[in-house]
Amino acid sequence: MTFKSQLYIPNKMEYLRGHKRPAVDCIICSILQKDPVVSNLLVFENETVACSVNLYPYNAGHLFIFPVRHIVDPRELTEKEQAEMNKLRNFAITQLEEIYQPNGFNIGFNIGYASGASIDHLHQHIVPRYGRELGFVDIISGSKIIIEDPNITLEKLRENFKKYE
Ligand SMILES: [Zn+2]
Repeated sequence: MTFKSQLYIPNKMEYLRGHKRPAVDCIICSILQKDPVVSNLLVFENETVACSVNLYPYNAGHLFIFPVRHIVDPRELTEKEQAEMNKLRNFAITQLEEIYQPNGFNIGFNIGYASGASIDHLHQHIVPRYGRELGFVDIISGSKIIIEDPNITLEKLRENFKKYE
């Protein structure tokens, strides 16, 4: 894949330290409420679940999916929310494969302060992995990431997510 016209270097560490973080109670709830203070990178939403491009992606196509209801622990998910989260996750994997042809995925929840979670509202990361990419240390340090602009990711995915039923 080519990155030529899509260079993007997010400053994840600054974000984690809270310097750039918008002053809202919950970033995810604010995104859902279309609060202009937060960047809206929503790819899809219905009354139960939603999917957003990560504003500070670890990789091209980094998404997260979450319940519309503000909860912090996966054990709080209702059966309906659980089913919708699973369905949306599977759908997202298919769309990412179609658009980005990754070689694999890391998918999961960060729960609690010590996990590195920077947002309370429960969300599942979907991170496409590519055969040729920077090392893990480069990625977690946030210092050498050169990836796709999240707005370009959003444009590509929004069209595909219209197929979700
Ligand atoms: Zn929330």
